[in-house]
Amino acid sequence: MSPLDAPKQPKYYSGVRPGMNDSDRIAPDCAGLNFFEIDHQFQSLLPLYLTQDELNHFSPHFDAMGEVAGGRLNDLAMQADKNEPVLHPRDRFGRDIDWIDYHPAYREMEKIAWGDFQMAAMAHRPGALGWPEVTPAPIKYAFQYMFAQSEFGILCPLSVSETSAYHFEWADDPKLKEMFWEGLTSLDFDNRLTGTQFMTEKAAGSDVGEATLTAVPDGDAWKLYGEKWFCSHADADVALLLARPEGAAAGTKGLGLFAMPRRLEDGSRNSYRIVRLKEKLGTKSMASGEIIFDGAKAYAVGDVENGIKQMLRQVNLSRLSHGVRAAGMMRRCLNEALSVARYRRQFGEPIVNKPLMQGQLLSLIHI
Ligand SMILES: Cc1cc2nc3c(=O)[nH]c(=O)nc-3n(C[C@H](O)[C@H](O)[C@H](O)COP(=O)(O)OP(=O)(O)OC[C@H]3O[C@@H](n4cnc5c(N)ncnc54)[C@H](O)[C@@H]3O)c2cc1C
Repeated sequence: MSPLDAPKQPKYYSGVRPGMNDSDRIAPDCAGLNFFEIDHQFQSLLPLYLTQDELNHFSPHFDAMGEVAGGRLNDLAMQADKNEPVLHPRDRFGRDIDWIDYHPAYREMEKIAWGDFQMAAMAHRPGALGWPEVTPAPIKYAFQYMFAQSEFGILCPLSVSETSAYHFEWADDPKLKEMFWEGLTSLDFDNRLTGTQFMTEKAAGSDVGEATLTAVPDGDAWKLYGEKWFCSHADADVALLLARPEGAAAGTKGLGLFAMPRRLEDGSRNSYRIVRLKEKLGTKSMASGEIIFDGAKAYAVGDVENGIKQMLRQVNLSRLSHGVRAAGMMRRCLNEALSVARYRRQFGEPIVNKPLMQGQLLSLIHI
């Protein structure tokens, strides 16, 4: 079979038939296809990285993810992209208790990622998707690669949640592990915690050593004062963030790593406010905000003099996930190009029959 041959027909293909109108001649997109089934290049890579047992166990799950990515998730992603999160900075009694409303499509996508496929827990604890051990990293990224072909936005919260959990494994602090790790890696969707990572400030972008968010010791915890400027997944249950302990050195050397819960142990809201959501060109389904900290309670994670090194371990994992997601989005572009080429008819036949088109598509497939 040639890589240019059509798999089953996409959802919106109405066929070639007598009496078809001009609209029927617009090529369908690839919605309705199973993004695992049609991706032979991806399938051929899996045996290089997975054991036979892993392949046997996870292949039906990959197939299920491919089905949902080309189907329900694709529809939900389009809805969530057009119905962005809305920030409510105050309640109607004038209390500064901010909250963010998400479209139901976003909530359903969360359920698919965290609940149905247990993507946040799988690399941390045994049992996800019935696999008796911790799921190997290539499998985690295989799911992200297919998911990203329909929805990129929510993979940011997913990735920052699951990479935040590593901090509590690395720091090996039993109290913090119980407070945060258990929830971040929960297999139970309804009892999960979500995480995020805040570094960027107005003056501190690439040059994160300019950060001025200040941490002041307060008993067994710290209080935070200042601002962060680009906080994705702004309303996560716990934020891993960089702040400078009062009196610490300038630059990256003086930064500590802290875990800041959204709610305190008595259930009340911690002292920080999301004051604005970003207007973004992409990842619109997910809320990125600007935050002011007014004595927010936070816990030092690991060695407080080693914050930047610890944070960069998480950043590296985030970047790996970004690379995988970029590969997923490139594959989606190829799926779209193939769908148009197979079903768009010009000069009396599908344009995929044209030699120049074949050369172009095959060069993309075999890159
Ligand atoms: C969608 C999105 C989500 C984000 N989510 C988060 C988040 O959750 N948490 C968080 O902390 N941050 C987040 N950020 C912020 C992001 O990490 C910063 O944008 C990033 O650190 C770059 O900072 P900056 O935008 O201030 O750009 P700048 O640092 O001002 O850089 C501007 C340009 O200069 C270039 N540049 C900078 N330094 C050099 C150099 N030494 N040599 C050559 N070129 C250089 C950069 O590559 C860039 O092209 C998010 C950003 C986006 C777009």
